[in-house]
Amino acid sequence: MSEADCIFCRIVRGEIDAEVVHDEDDVLVFEDINSKAPVHVLVIPKEHVANLEEIGALPDTVLKRLFEVASSVAEKLGVTEGGYAIRINNGRDAGQEVFHLHLHVMGGKRLGMP
Ligand code: AMP
Ligand code: ZN
Repeated sequence: MSEADCIFCRIVRGEIDAEVVHDEDDVLVFEDINSKAPVHVLVIPKEHVANLEEIGALPDTVLKRLFEVASSVAEKLGVTEGGYAIRINNGRDAGQEVFHLHLHVMGGKRLGMP
């Protein structure tokens, strides 16, 4: 899938609406449209990389920033104390649906491992 068609690139470009909870130079955070927990947001690099196999294309600073932003958004959304899960579905068997790297940040309930 090209960046032109990528749904998350289209959100970054403002072509598709999303419930944005944090926006900065290289990282965007928005609500997952099909929430699976009381708090469920997606943290994405604005630069298109499909998955972890392409992560070398991201500057180290952006990679680190994804996790810093995940942590600060978790704090903002009130799940730091209770805890939260960060999940990356990478590839078909993990159920990856959108091939633009993203961290799921989920909290507000007990989360197990599927
Ligand atoms: P996955 O690729 O398996 O990590 O899952 C992609 C996630 O993106 C799913 O949890 C979807 O609910 C979510 N999603 C898909 N389209 C949108 C959208 N337009 N806005 C917000 N979240 C979306
Ligand atoms: Zn993309």
